Amino acid sequence: MKKLFVPAVFIFLWYNLNAQSSIQKDPQIVKMVAEVSKDSLQSYVKNLVSFGTRNTLSTQSDPKRGIGAARNWVLGRFNEMAKSSEGRLTAFIDTTTITPRTGGRRVDRIIVLGNVMATLKGTDANDKRVFIISGHLDNMRTNVMDSVGDAPGANDDASGVAAVMECARVMSKYSFPATVIFVAVSGEEQGLLGSDYMAGKAKKENWEIEAVLNNDIMGGNNQNENNKASNNQVRVFSEGLSLLDTGRAAITFRNLGLENDGKARQLARYVKEISERYVKKLKVVMVYRNDRFLRGGDHTPYVQRGFAAVRITEMNENYAHQHQDVRMENNIQYGDLPEFMDFEYLRKNTCMNLCNLANLAKSPSMPLEVRVETRRLTNYTNLSWKPSATGKVKGYYVLMRETTSPVWEKKMFTSDTKMDLPFSKDNYFFAVQSVSEEGNESLPVLPVPAGR
Ligand SMILES: [Zn+2]
Repeated sequence: MKKLFVPAVFIFLWYNLNAQSSIQKDPQIVKMVAEVSKDSLQSYVKNLVSFGTRNTLSTQSDPKRGIGAARNWVLGRFNEMAKSSEGRLTAFIDTTTITPRTGGRRVDRIIVLGNVMATLKGTDANDKRVFIISGHLDNMRTNVMDSVGDAPGANDDASGVAAVMECARVMSKYSFPATVIFVAVSGEEQGLLGSDYMAGKAKKENWEIEAVLNNDIMGGNNQNENNKASNNQVRVFSEGLSLLDTGRAAITFRNLGLENDGKARQLARYVKEISERYVKKLKVVMVYRNDRFLRGGDHTPYVQRGFAAVRITEMNENYAHQHQDVRMENNIQYGDLPEFMDFEYLRKNTCMNLCNLANLAKSPSMPLEVRVETRRLTNYTNLSWKPSATGKVKGYYVLMRETTSPVWEKKMFTSDTKMDLPFSKDNYFFAVQSVSEEGNESLPVLPVPAGR
């Protein structure tokens, strides 16, 4: 993050700027990130693969095989972690009945679908914010309706579930003002059934979800001739503007040129900044689309309901190792096996999730009523806002970028609730985020033109 250069001629406008504004790392997050263990991730993946298949339609009565045994095992691990959380972490399997009528083409019988959910309750009763990390427990063979044959599903998506479990293990030893939910959903391959159920429930019950990090296929060792550095890069997929943004909202976005500043895109930008602050040798590559061609993911049911949700996926996917029966064909090994995984890469991608969840859950809530003064024609920018409703606020960062820049370029601290800048509001995008004593930032809020 570049320090702001203040031309001498404008210095009079900077009286309220804190010259100490360097971006600090929170030592507690540095510590948590260091606690993420490659061995622990590897053992989760190995255990998940050991259930033979985790197809959503597979057996729920066999103690050792199938989706039922797998979800009970994840619940058992969560309950183990809960013991050392002093009551902050609680876990259960959230079940719902799916029928061929409600589940669609990929459900041929009545099943009980279960999402394994662990909730790390926030310590501030007034802080209702919820941050979610998700991975999918279920998997598939070449034929998604085959619920009997072996399907290891190591990378798709034991990798994501392992990241969810490891974040829960490390974070449940700490406390946060806001709530974090760790979830291993089912029914992804059958049509995003588990996350659709959860997102629908969240919407109905008015959960204040501010971010969903969906982890799906994030630990493969798929270096190829085109990208040798793929295990130093990870992709974050985000939608620009939601299709829900219609009517007045759409007019505002068009008038202000905010098509690159929807909720999910804003979250992706945040994830890039925080991940690259805390995780060494990992570059976050933002992809400006909701998902890949021909594929879907568990962030989408949230996006469709207006929540900020992104998909985290490895840089290079190997399609011989996804949705494939384990077999040799023309000397090529097919199948999603643990031997095709890079657990050091999975560790980094897990750290990336953890530092974002922790930074968000420790941050004060977002500043309120962020306004930009537009009632007079000037070549300046005058921003104002109201304090965050919850959390210990040290101050606020004003973010600034060129209208063509993918990321925020400047970050300016103030302990005030306004900032006057010697730059034209016509030529830049601005946003405001609150920040705690430890340096934990809220998600940014874009200003609304004052007087509207
Ligand atoms: Zn998947």
